Amino acid sequence: MVKENLEEVERRISEACRRAGRSRGEVTLVAVSKTKPVSMIEEAYGTGIRDFGENKVQELCEKHEVLESDIRWHMIGHLQRNKVRQVVDKTVLIHSVDSVRLAAQIDEEAAKKGITADILLEVNVAEEESKYGFRLEETEQALREIAAFSHVHIRGLMTIAPFVDNSEENRPIFKKLYQFYVDMRGKNIDNVTMSMLSMGMTGDYEVAIEEGATLVRVGTGIFGTRYKIGENEG
Ligand SMILES: *Cc1c(COP(=O)(O)O)cnc(C)c1O
Repeated sequence: MVKENLEEVERRISEACRRAGRSRGEVTLVAVSKTKPVSMIEEAYGTGIRDFGENKVQELCEKHEVLESDIRWHMIGHLQRNKVRQVVDKTVLIHSVDSVRLAAQIDEEAAKKGITADILLEVNVAEEESKYGFRLEETEQALREIAAFSHVHIRGLMTIAPFVDNSEENRPIFKKLYQFYVDMRGKNIDNVTMSMLSMGMTGDYEVAIEEGATLVRVGTGIFGTRYKIGENEG
């Protein structure tokens, strides 16, 4: 089932790229495997997928421990500062940096391990009360503060769009974040490389790609439905 789902997702990604006049290579599919068993991840791995997303530290660590070492783990869920140490050297990218204090903690733990952590700043574009992330107006200031840390490297931005019935409803949100991303790229801030834009999930990844996403995070569309409890917790 995972294999067939992946073929479908891959086909849709390619078509969205084509519609947008983008090359397929500009978009990375992150397979969101949260709550799903190792066996399903292995199935996806068998088809060539190497980028997997998890939203809980403990689950990410457990899967990291038992699965192939060439998997690129993405932390996509809200991250608590006291858990940074556990994930900082197990992930290729932390998508969900939602405060300067969290970035400072990542900087500290990365420094201890002698590495530089790649991060995205999570932006709550839709200003939903229930979501984490910087408000768009405060993101540039945060970006400048975090850019001063020597062991984190900002690679771009991430957003979680609202849950909607019609994905077109999220197009303005993706457009807005893309515009801001291009704007920030133009400012050439030291220690900031604006090259990654993580937006789009199962319900809206095609629209997100049309609007400039470079990383799409697809869970249900690949692995099937999950129970919804504690979805966005670190
Ligand atoms: C769960 C999750 C996803 C994947 O959601 P689907 O709708 O199942 O594709 C993407 N991003 C984040 C941050 C998530 O927590």
